[in-house]
Amino acid sequence: MDNLNQLCIHTITTKPWAIETAVQKYAEAGVKGISVWRDTLENRNIQRTGEFIRSHGLEVVSLVRGGFFAHTSALKRDASLSDNLKAIDEAAALGAPMVVLVCGADPGQTLEASREQIRTGIEAILPHAEACKVKLAIEPLHPMYAADRSAITTLAQANDLAEAIRSPWLGVAADVYHLWWDPGLEQEIRRCGANGHLFAYHICDWNVPTIDMLNDRGLMGEGCIRLKQIRQWVKEAGFSGYHEVEIFSNRLWAQDQDIFLQNIINAYLNHS
Ligand code: ZN
Repeated sequence: MDNLNQLCIHTITTKPWAIETAVQKYAEAGVKGISVWRDTLENRNIQRTGEFIRSHGLEVVSLVRGGFFAHTSALKRDASLSDNLKAIDEAAALGAPMVVLVCGADPGQTLEASREQIRTGIEAILPHAEACKVKLAIEPLHPMYAADRSAITTLAQANDLAEAIRSPWLGVAADVYHLWWDPGLEQEIRRCGANGHLFAYHICDWNVPTIDMLNDRGLMGEGCIRLKQIRQWVKEAGFSGYHEVEIFSNRLWAQDQDIFLQNIINAYLNHS
């Protein structure tokens, strides 16, 4: 199944499955990559879990997620730095080449202040990431999350930040769910490709109507995102990495996950 060579699935997508089950099912279905959410590693030996994944012929694409740098409280900012250093250690133990960053925001301060703390936070953890040979990917989120999840809401802002810090260990994760609406998307994808810092590409769909801000993402083809157009831009920007299916959906988690996995593969082949 060569046409699945770039298919990666995030463990959160099949949340009802323990990581061991997800690994076995993905491998049987011909999926090649897995992005591991940190909650699935609880009570596990992380290094052995990495070996288990590779022994099934799967590649670990990323560890999800670090970030949440922005807080009005200095104590919370310090705690977030510790947690990010821990995430980098976990990625190294797992054999994940990258940690995805959801950068955070605090409604008690301006977005500019949050972005300044994000920059300071990333600069503080970058030396450890480099020492561990783990890349960091800034993931801009849709503006509906600007209050408390991410003060970075466009690919332009993520590109600005990556260019300001400028390190081969820092790049961006482009997620269609967060970015599809942006009139500057094509240009910004080209910009981050030219800088060599397009590190990850996440796919799903935008349901119309969306009934939950967090847990109502669609399977590719269900919504209104022009996935094939964005895929083309990403390809033209020189990106040849995995297409990572990342779906949070109460509706889809309630389905039979074996059937859902087949639907993911069909949707990937036909609609993305
Ligand atoms: Zn994502």
